[in-house]
Amino acid sequence: MESDDCSVKVAVHIRPLIGDERLQGCKDCVTVVSGKPQVQIGSHSFTFDHVYGSTCSPSTEMYQECAAPLVDGLFQGYNATVLAYGQTGSGKTYTMGTGCGDSSTQTGIVPQVMNALFTKIETLKDHIEFQIHVSFIEIHKEEVQDLLDPSTINKSDTKVAHVPGKPPIQIRESSNGVITLAGSTEVSVSTLKEMAACLDQGSVSRATGSTNMNNQSSRSHAIFTISVEQMRKVNNNTDSSENGSLKEEYLCAKLHLVDLAGSERAKRTGSDGMRFKEGVHINKGLLALGNVISALGDEKKRKDGAHVPYRDSKLTRLLQDSLGGNSRTVMIACISPADINAEETLNTLKYANRAR
Ligand code: ADP
Ligand code: MG
Repeated sequence: MESDDCSVKVAVHIRPLIGDERLQGCKDCVTVVSGKPQVQIGSHSFTFDHVYGSTCSPSTEMYQECAAPLVDGLFQGYNATVLAYGQTGSGKTYTMGTGCGDSSTQTGIVPQVMNALFTKIETLKDHIEFQIHVSFIEIHKEEVQDLLDPSTINKSDTKVAHVPGKPPIQIRESSNGVITLAGSTEVSVSTLKEMAACLDQGSVSRATGSTNMNNQSSRSHAIFTISVEQMRKVNNNTDSSENGSLKEEYLCAKLHLVDLAGSERAKRTGSDGMRFKEGVHINKGLLALGNVISALGDEKKRKDGAHVPYRDSKLTRLLQDSLGGNSRTVMIACISPADINAEETLNTLKYANRAR
């Protein structure tokens, strides 16, 4: 993050053409302007904070530029959010590293975040006591589902919205504006291995459905949250007479890593009934997110204390204390370079452009 004048940074990640697209003889229709974070499609041109093309392996660079500053901020008490946006198949899960078995690879954002977090804790743990918790939830049809619920894990093929008799998970706001999830599993972890196990467990139980657009298309938002609590003993300098007097300092912050639902229009899935309803609900979350981020990015509006519509969806409600204010947000817009996806790619770039 070069400048701090805007709390929302936007990056674009262009994946390479993949098997299916090559087989269909698709052409690459997205150009990166050399030396600039600028992409062109047809007659449209957009500039972002960062653009990661498909010619190199951008994972390390992307982590360093987009996520590392947020991990550093966690240790200073700043909440943060990383969002992967894009149509189904554009590379959101690949970018985040929240696919099944991804925790062992180092290409995704989440595995790299986990690694950096524990490396940093290792250097600080002699002076600071840490407590780390993770939760992994999914928002599907405006309902929050617990991906780490011990009673549904190992039964991922017969996943139900929630266990009978268990109250649904609720998003709550405390008087000081802290958002909590009541009823979701929070796992206390003390090692990288334990955290990676949570990521893997949740990835496996993540709900998928099939439509004629993509067999594994995902219509839910998956949110992996890492919360870091620090207790450190510091010298109480205000009291000079009592040498060595110590006071305790407490810091707490969380990082949400979000693999958003596919941004394609419901009508394109060619489905009806239930699937259409899912589409409508998902659009609600993505629509609200777009409105919130756009309101946050508009400095004039912010200064006038304009209304930021967090309450319009579960997604924005849950992320409320980690979007805007003192928190840092990075949106990574994922796109396919293939000409058959040009319409959705343009939609994604327009959405991302609004966020700047
Ligand atoms: P989404 O989560 O947006 O639906 P995926 O992350 O599942 O999309 O990606 C779709 C396919 O493209 C997967 O097979 C994935 O491995 C591949 N893919 C995505 N991004 C890249 C990339 N940057 N490099 C290589 N393959 C990629
Ligand atoms: Mg996915």
